[in-house]
Amino acid sequence: MSEIIKTEAVVLSKMNYRESSTIATFYTKDLGRISGIIKGARQPKSPVGHKIDSFNHLQIVMYKKTGRDMQLISQAELISYFPRIKEDLQKLKYASAVLELTLALTVEEEANQKLFRGLVKMLSLFESSERKPGILLIKFIVFLLKESGFEIQFDQCSICGNPITMGASGYSFNFERGIVCPSCRHEVSSSILLSPELFQIITGLSDIRSEEKIPSGEIDNTLNFLEKYLKYHVPEFKGIKSIHLF
Ligand SMILES: [Zn+2]
Repeated sequence: MSEIIKTEAVVLSKMNYRESSTIATFYTKDLGRISGIIKGARQPKSPVGHKIDSFNHLQIVMYKKTGRDMQLISQAELISYFPRIKEDLQKLKYASAVLELTLALTVEEEANQKLFRGLVKMLSLFESSERKPGILLIKFIVFLLKESGFEIQFDQCSICGNPITMGASGYSFNFERGIVCPSCRHEVSSSILLSPELFQIITGLSDIRSEEKIPSGEIDNTLNFLEKYLKYHVPEFKGIKSIHLF
């Protein structure tokens, strides 16, 4: 049985298929992650083809057949696109990681409207704010982990269980355990010491002014540890390619 579904979608990736078609993966509002084929998308007169590009936020219409891996996409209307992300290499690098992680850490046809809204909001922040792209990516990873069931515990030390004092210094992050308090730090072999500013960012309590103080080296180190955390907890995850490409 096939039904016609209209939903909002973000293009996560696309590839050419045969002479003139395109296959794309979308994160949709109503169906979660899906793959679709756009027949004739690369023909000059295709009304849909040019809209199927990474990052684009679209309204799509598909013929959905249960049990089929690839849905047929028949229409697409542009809701928003993100030209500044594509022009700015720093924005592109970290925002590409957002798409890549959404692709890797979500389950096909498992809808999560909060995740969909978070994804669109994050792309708008990359597009129009002056905030550091690396920090936006850290915030997105923490959000995505929470929404996909690999949440990091922020209210207590992952070893002794003592409550965490917000704004305090000496906390570190270990990729196997998560947040570790100053007295347990010697118990873990490899961890990154979080500055109070960065600690606030990964716990979601940062204000934009404190972000300015964080050196880029510390942002990249934290991303490396989050990447290790993902690899450790999600066996099929192989790492974030986009942040190592540039
Ligand atoms: Zn502890």
